Amino acid sequence: MDVLDSPTKMQRAADEARQAGRRVGLVPTMGALHDGHLSLLRRARAESDLTVMSLFVNPAQFDRPDDLARYPRDFNRDARLARDGGVDIIFAPTVEAMYPAGFQTYVLPGPLAERWEGAARPGHFRGVATVCAKLFAICRPHRAYFGQKDYQQATLIRRLVADLNLGLEIVILPTVREADGLALSSRNVLLDPGARRQATVLSHALRTAQAAVAAGERSALRLREMIEAELRTAPLAQPEYVGVCDPDTLEPLARITGRAVALLAARFGAVRLIDNGMLEP
Ligand code: AMP
Repeated sequence: MDVLDSPTKMQRAADEARQAGRRVGLVPTMGALHDGHLSLLRRARAESDLTVMSLFVNPAQFDRPDDLARYPRDFNRDARLARDGGVDIIFAPTVEAMYPAGFQTYVLPGPLAERWEGAARPGHFRGVATVCAKLFAICRPHRAYFGQKDYQQATLIRRLVADLNLGLEIVILPTVREADGLALSSRNVLLDPGARRQATVLSHALRTAQAAVAAGERSALRLREMIEAELRTAPLAQPEYVGVCDPDTLEPLARITGRAVALLAARFGAVRLIDNGMLEP
């Protein structure tokens, strides 16, 4: 396994692989790897001749300096897990290499970036879209792998690739969860034990809504109320938003007539968690 910090060297390695007819797969991460990341790596490795994992905590997508400062980092552990997961190249650039002096060009996403996470975290998706466009240009993947855990992000990146004709395929894989339902997240380690216990309320609320839809509920308002009521059973949870949305545009729905997605975010003290679940009539 190679570790590259230079965008130029990374680009050269990817170009050489492509010229040799090898398939390049990219898994973008911010490190602090968990089984969610590893499931993306497994799929990438199965489908690629050269598996690249980027590891970059991207300042441009953090709207809060304290969130950026507290973001968990452990390069040696991540490198070990990546090697065991069959990664060929870790691309781990410095902030200066990605945003050198004079950097001024950003990718501005459209309405998909405005609601939900976009409204809660101003500039977040501009940072995500910009870094992904850069990572795609540097790592030249045929396919890039993302988790459904960040549903709005995955939807927006598919749009980015189509809108800018970036010529790669985006693969979105299911959310990996703890045995009690909590979606794996690098931020889970920041939860204190009480908050960790109550954090299961997010996935439980989504399951309640999924069961209600399966049982015939079609009112988005009632589904939202159901989710909000369940979130209120966890005193440490401070809900930020609950949306019942069109799965492609992420616009709120009034009624469930086909596939839909429930999106939610809640704070537990200083730790902000998100989750989502498909609602299928
Ligand atoms: P991050 O390091 O948090 O930026 O995440 C890197 C990638 O892993 C993103 O595509 C995430 O959507 C994905 N990911 C994060 N958590 C999970 C999870 N629990 N299950 C599946 N994929 C995940």
